[in-house]
Amino acid sequence: MEDKLYGGWKLIELYSTHHIKKGRRHCLVLCTGCQKTFTRDWMSVKNGHTRGCNTCSKKRRYANYRQYSGGRLHRIWLNMNNRCNNSKDINYQWYGAKGIKVCDEWRTFLTFERWALEVGYVNLKVEFKHQLSIDRIDPKLGYNPDNCQWLTVSENSRKAHIQRSETIPRGSTVQANGAGSGVQSND
Ligand SMILES: [Zn+2]
Repeated sequence: MEDKLYGGWKLIELYSTHHIKKGRRHCLVLCTGCQKTFTRDWMSVKNGHTRGCNTCSKKRRYANYRQYSGGRLHRIWLNMNNRCNNSKDINYQWYGAKGIKVCDEWRTFLTFERWALEVGYVNLKVEFKHQLSIDRIDPKLGYNPDNCQWLTVSENSRKAHIQRSETIPRGSTVQANGAGSGVQSND
């Protein structure tokens, strides 16, 4: 068998039809990342979309991400920490001063990054309003894995707008700076 590569797999042996299980043909493949052999469904190998075994494809996806993502996630992390911890930050008055905290684990970028990738953060090469931004599910609570999710910038500002109209009592005037309204421009 020639050394043909399918994504992160090298095909060692395409099993003959008597290895067919559940109507699928299987094959023996070598993961080019860890050099271990695996039995895989031939159809899933043939399309070349998998980057080797689960462990290696995860690692590669991560490396790919770090290489191409630019610094957006890092910037989000930095801004989050600044508005909560740096009293000189222009947004500190709406965050740190109001008791909004970043949880201890997220004081380290790598831990924050790991969470972000696990819950599906991707760096999208799209218009700003369609990019992902961090959202606190309950705006009264801080930044931690239980209270955060990723929304697009436009979803996030729509949510802030709804919260503003819900939290401002009828008849009161909207303060231009958003003070007391619980509105944050996340990111
Ligand atoms: Zn592997």
